[in-house]
Amino acid sequence: MKHTVLIVEDDPQNRKLLAELLAVKGYRVVEACDGRQGVEQAVAHLPELILMDIQLPEMDGTGVLQALKGNLLTRAIPVWLLTAYAMPSDEVRFRACGCDEYITKPLDLRDLLARIERLFEATDDAPACAGLCPGEACP
Ligand code: MN
Repeated sequence: MKHTVLIVEDDPQNRKLLAELLAVKGYRVVEACDGRQGVEQAVAHLPELILMDIQLPEMDGTGVLQALKGNLLTRAIPVWLLTAYAMPSDEVRFRACGCDEYITKPLDLRDLLARIERLFEATDDAPACAGLCPGEACP
């Protein structure tokens, strides 16, 4: 089964690089080039992972995080911020906004891919109804 990854990044070069890399690895890739589109694509495609730049036009990464984490449909989707900010206080702030991982640019692509693989291995092992089943039929 193909896992879907949403990339929210306004820099076309960075976005294209990541998208191609993930597509080559067999993932289904959805792209958004600003924050508002990021929220729309997340709701429309319900990706299993969102990789997001923090400095975005229309709505910045913090606003997108708040929108996603405040929506029952999208709140469980892990959001990994990809950002050039390097201050420890920034990481605390972003984590408080609900980001699940915080990855500093320039990206170590090999490490990022390995992390993504581990994330999906973990979710593949979970029961199919995890987070979705209404309760009574859950084994
Ligand atoms: Mn940006």
